[in-house]
Amino acid sequence: MTARIIDGKQVAQNIRAELAAEIAHLKERGITPGLGVILLGDDPASQSYVRGKERTCKELGIYSDNHHLPAQTTQEQLLELIGRMNNAPAIDGILVQLPLPGHCDEKKVIEAIDPVKDVDGFHPVTIGRMMVGESTFLPCTPHGIIQLLVRSGVTIQGAHVVVVGRSAIVGKPITNMLLQKKEHANATVTICHTRTKDIAYHTRQADIVIAAAGRPDTITADMIKEGAVVIDVGVNRIEDPSRKKGYRLVGDVDFETVKEKASLITPVPGGVGPMTITMLMYNTVESAKERASE
Ligand code: NAP
Repeated sequence: MTARIIDGKQVAQNIRAELAAEIAHLKERGITPGLGVILLGDDPASQSYVRGKERTCKELGIYSDNHHLPAQTTQEQLLELIGRMNNAPAIDGILVQLPLPGHCDEKKVIEAIDPVKDVDGFHPVTIGRMMVGESTFLPCTPHGIIQLLVRSGVTIQGAHVVVVGRSAIVGKPITNMLLQKKEHANATVTICHTRTKDIAYHTRQADIVIAAAGRPDTITADMIKEGAVVIDVGVNRIEDPSRKKGYRLVGDVDFETVKEKASLITPVPGGVGPMTITMLMYNTVESAKERASE
């Protein structure tokens, strides 16, 4: 079997087209969705992520209030800016690009964001609401994964999903979202990590494998069953002198061999990546809709 490739760029574009229509509708009612974006320092990866978010806001007609601040910005200054954004009626969502420089306490900074504007879905209140199944902002990468599955016609209900990785931003939230007693969930979920005794034993039983380990070749063809759906969240830089940049990006899955056994697979790049920013925009629009209904 050769897998059908899930085109994350296309799925993201479809969702963005739906969002553009919702934004136009909101603007007719005098509401422009707004996203506050805060970046500290000049880490090239963070700068590139933030540029992507600002560009997408512009494309969709979302107002973005961008603050690119020096790495030496104090935690007090940062908290003060978040406080102002919390109170700004034109801002529906606040995004603080992580990681922050070492002198800032990330936990404190995230907790300073008003949960009603927590479009990244990292605030403990948002996470708690998600866990108990209340309506809330869903974290962007896990929500993007679910959208990729649903829009590719994959039945999640009743499926056995094996998640490799247990981070707070991918592994734990996707596990939790998939086991909710809800539409687009109701899966049986196994979660693996570095202390799991025999990862292949688990992944071979999976209808859906979600790899979020941050290590190339974590999932190889011998570790999946014929016809499994494979979602590769990993983004790893591999040295490649033949490329202008000197590196290329690969996922956590050995794509070339796994695609011969899977039924559906996401590529890296072009799979989960484009979904993350899109779901951030989705949350910002949801927040603006909430404002419009007040
Ligand atoms: P993380 O915080 O480093 O967590 C990695 C998790 O994977 C940990 O739970 C770790 O286990 C587990 N792990 C590492 N190596 C493993 C192995 N060989 N076998 C089994 N488990 C292993 O990473 P993250 O933030 O979740 O990100 C994971 C990957 O996704 C990264 O490559 C990241 O760049 C990518 N990512 C992509 C997007 C996107 O939009 N495309 C968004 C977020 C993250 P322990 O807990 O035991 O250490």
